[in-house]
Amino acid sequence: MRRSVTIATAKACQFIDITSQVQTAISETDITDGLVIIYCPHTTAGITINENADPDVRADILQHLDAMVPNSSSFRHGEGNSPAHIKASFMGSSATVIISEGRLSLGTWQGIYLCEFDGPRTRNVWLKLIEA
Ligand code: ZN
Repeated sequence: MRRSVTIATAKACQFIDITSQVQTAISETDITDGLVIIYCPHTTAGITINENADPDVRADILQHLDAMVPNSSSFRHGEGNSPAHIKASFMGSSATVIISEGRLSLGTWQGIYLCEFDGPRTRNVWLKLIEA
C-alpha cells in the first residue's frame, strides 16, 4: 500500500518533523504489524530519524552540516546548489520503521524528519506500508 505526504517547507534548510503524518497514514490502513518505508524522491532533501525532544539537536546538525559543506566552497555543478545535494546524500533518501500494534515503533526520543536543504519549496514524501 502506497501513500504520499506533501509538505511545504518554509526555510532554505530545516528539519521538519513528519512523524505524525506518517502515523496518520498508518492509522488510515488496517495494517497492525509490518514495516513502513519513508522515502524522499528529491535530490536536495533527505530523510532522517533523530531526537524529537530538544530542538537544539536539529540546530546543531544543520550548523555542522553547514560547516562541513560551506556555500563558499567551489563546486562544478552549475545549478549552484551543490551543498544541498551533498547534505541530502549525508542524510539519505529513506528510513524504514517497524509498525507494531498499528503504531510506529520509535524510540522514546526519536522523530522522523524531512530534511530540507534547498527550500523553501513543496516536497513529497512517499510511504510504502508492508504488512508482515
Ligand atoms: Zn542541483
